[in-house]
Amino acid sequence: MAILPIRTFGDPVLRMKTKPVDEIDDAVRSLVKDMIETMYAAPGVGLAANQVGVSRRIAVFDAQDGLGARVMINPEIVETSGQFVYDEGCLSIPNRYWEIERPAFARVVALDLDGNEVEYSGDGLMGRVLQHEVAHLEGGLLIDELPKRVRKAVLRELRDENLGLK
Ligand code: ZN
Repeated sequence: MAILPIRTFGDPVLRMKTKPVDEIDDAVRSLVKDMIETMYAAPGVGLAANQVGVSRRIAVFDAQDGLGARVMINPEIVETSGQFVYDEGCLSIPNRYWEIERPAFARVVALDLDGNEVEYSGDGLMGRVLQHEVAHLEGGLLIDELPKRVRKAVLRELRDENLGLK
């Protein structure tokens, strides 16, 4: 097991759509173990493979519901409903939080590490983390959900920070 470096805003791998997993082999199982360790060490409640530089459709999460870390391989959102504003952060944009509006409830279908189909659903933190992680796998980031004018200002700030202007 190993704690992997987390890629941060500005790294192009975060903006690439990840490739589906066609075989759950030892490399995938080992990556998932490392991702879980990395998520807890951060600490965070979710981590997508492209956040550790691997452009594959894999994410892990712990919705703090007592069920521990779970894995989603090739996840797809199959249902959402409602609306919910949540103070959301991201390990790839450290120490920043924004009030982000997304559907409150989400249902995801994915594969587990044994290749069995699994379904995760819920609202609250569960609904949020499912949507946040699947968005990562599409090359998305939470700031994409901000209203356009706010997003522009935030992007400017983040670029300035990346350039060491602050
Ligand atoms: Zn994130």
